[in-house]
Amino acid sequence: MDRVYNFSAGPSMLPEEVLKKAQEELVIYRDAGMSVMEMSHRSKVYQDIIDEAEALLREIMNIPENYKVLFLQGGASSQFAMVPLNLFRKSKKADYVKTGLWAKKAIAEASRYGTVNVVASSEDATFNYIPELDKSTFSPDADYFYITTNNTIYGTRYTELPDTGDVPLVADMSSNILSEVYDVNKFGVIFAGAQKNMGPAGLTVVIIREDLIGHAMDITPTMFNYQIHAENGSMYNTPPTYSIYIAKLVFEWVKKMGGVPAMQKINEEKAKILYDYLDDSSFFKGTVVPKYRSLMNIPFVSPSPELDAKFIKEATAKGLVNLKGHRTVGGMRASIYNAMPIEGVKTLVEFMKKFEMENR
Ligand code: PMP
Repeated sequence: MDRVYNFSAGPSMLPEEVLKKAQEELVIYRDAGMSVMEMSHRSKVYQDIIDEAEALLREIMNIPENYKVLFLQGGASSQFAMVPLNLFRKSKKADYVKTGLWAKKAIAEASRYGTVNVVASSEDATFNYIPELDKSTFSPDADYFYITTNNTIYGTRYTELPDTGDVPLVADMSSNILSEVYDVNKFGVIFAGAQKNMGPAGLTVVIIREDLIGHAMDITPTMFNYQIHAENGSMYNTPPTYSIYIAKLVFEWVKKMGGVPAMQKINEEKAKILYDYLDDSSFFKGTVVPKYRSLMNIPFVSPSPELDAKFIKEATAKGLVNLKGHRTVGGMRASIYNAMPIEGVKTLVEFMKKFEMENR
């Protein structure tokens, strides 16, 4: 069987080149005589792998010296608690923008440890836009300001970052890290689960400005303390060794492809193909306010839930899989992360045109 075009929101497609390289090195890694999965995380050969992963990520994201890179576990969801536990260091207040389910979960978690001020929300329209932010509603003494740069379920993204002055900006970048250029200097903390643009599930990457480390609340569990992980080079305990190795291969691939600027260019091109068709079609419709359209997750609907189901079924039979929208919103969603080739998007649009002709 051939590989399909997998439009899953995550875990999602990995570059075929990366999978093949991993296959080559799977049973015996270089001259180690064993698989990466079998190595001690304390061995020299593994230390080289994790060091290289970090160096590559620093290079492709242009991460400044005064930021630590942590390779953790627990998914992005654990960061919903780790962020407040570590960053509630003065007022124990934080500003949050409610742009979807993941932001809501982050708000709920932070509310357990301090005061959350929701500065804006797009819940009134099923989160199909990013709300305008009014600086006068920001808390001047907030310990941090929290956003979700790309909202995986609804397909929205910030096209402009909020200006939070001296208040550190914290970003859940799970579904668009490495897909477009960001200036890391603008953030206090960036975190992301790996399973969309970086590698397999099991790895969570945290990029944190050094001055924000070392102020965790007393109740913080050891494993949730950034300082512990920073002081131990992400090896306080056993890190997700194989996921880090695959992420290293993905970082190499991104670099080889021309880095994040090249990724952004091709992502814009890929997304445009689908959005242009959705704008032209009188059958399929994009669901997001155009200004806030994501480059990674593109939700759309046909004229009825019955036709949606028929579309998903027929697409699957053609090797265009995982197009069903999130269970909370319905319709369809095409996730087109870095590893989705442009041919995948073109094939999808051709299929949509054919389906439209046959069903309108
Ligand atoms: N934040 C965003 C933006 C996500 O898309 C997801 C997962 N899809 C999460 C957080 C939760 O990630 P995890 O499953 O790694 O906890």
